[in-house]
Amino acid sequence: DTVLHLSGIRKTYGKGAGAVPVLRGVDLELRAGEIVALVAPSGAGKSTLLQIAGLLDTPDAGAVEIGGTPMQGASDRRRTTVRRQDVGFVYQFHHLLPEFTALENIALPQLANGTPRPQADARAQSLLDSVGLTDRATHRPSALSGGEQQRVAFCRAMANAPKLLLADEPTGNLDPGTSDQVFAALVRLARDTGLAALVATHNLDLAARMDRQVRLDQGRIA
Ligand code: ADP
Ligand code: ADP
Repeated sequence: DTVLHLSGIRKTYGKGAGAVPVLRGVDLELRAGEIVALVAPSGAGKSTLLQIAGLLDTPDAGAVEIGGTPMQGASDRRRTTVRRQDVGFVYQFHHLLPEFTALENIALPQLANGTPRPQADARAQSLLDSVGLTDRATHRPSALSGGEQQRVAFCRAMANAPKLLLADEPTGNLDPGTSDQVFAALVRLARDTGLAALVATHNLDLAARMDRQVRLDQGRIA
C-alpha cells in the first residue's frame, strides 16, 4: 500500500548560466499511515518537491506515482482530478477564506466535489471535533488563534479524505506549544484516516516525533 512513489525526480529552474538545479534525482516512497518529516534548510527544494509530489508542478525527469497510478504523461485534466481527490495541502499560512466560518471552510471543498450539504457539514463538524475545535465551528478565521487556524486548515485538507497529505512548514509561524497542539491534531487526523503525510519542517523536535525523517541534501534524499 504505497501512497506516494517518487523516483529519479529532477528539477532545474532557469536555463543556461542562470540555471539552478534544485532536485537531482529524488527517490522517496510513502506508505499508508506514515507521517514522514522532510527536513532541510531553507532553499534546499522542499517546496519544489512537495509541489511535484502534489501534481502542482512537473519534474524535468523522473516518475511520480500516487496510489499506484503513474502520473507521467497524464493529461492536465487527469492530474487535476487526482490532485482534488487524493491530495490535501497545508501551507505555513492557512489561506482560509475570511468571509466563511471554520465549518464552511471545511465543507466547501466537499461541496465542490459534489457532496450534499448535510453530509459535508456533518463531516466538517466531526473533523473539527477530532482536533478539539467543536466550539469554534461558527467562528471566522479572523476570530481564531494561529494554532486554531492551522488546525482548521488541516481539517480542510482532509475534507475530501485524501490518500496523501502534503504540508509545507505548517507550524513555521507558530510558537512551540502551539506547534505541538497542531502536530497532535495532524497525528489524530492521520491515524483516523490512514493517510500518508509528508511534512516539510525546520522544527527538529517536531521532526523527531514523526514516524520517519528524510533529509534533502544536495538535491537528493540523504
Ligand atoms: P525550500 O522549500 O526548501 O525553501 P524551494 O523549493 O522553495 O526550497 O526552493 C529551492 C530553490 O529553488 C531556491 O533556490 C529557490 O529560490 C528556487 N526556486 C523555487 N521556485 C522557483 C521558481 N519558480 N523559479 C525559480 N527559482 C525557484
Ligand atoms: P519556503 O521557504 O517557506 O518553502 P519559499 O519562499 O521558498 O517558501 O517559496 C514559496 C513559493 O515561492 C513556492 O511556491 C516556491 O516555489 C516559490 N519560489 C521560491 N523561490 C522562487 C523564485 N526565486 N522565483 C519564483 N518563485 C519562487
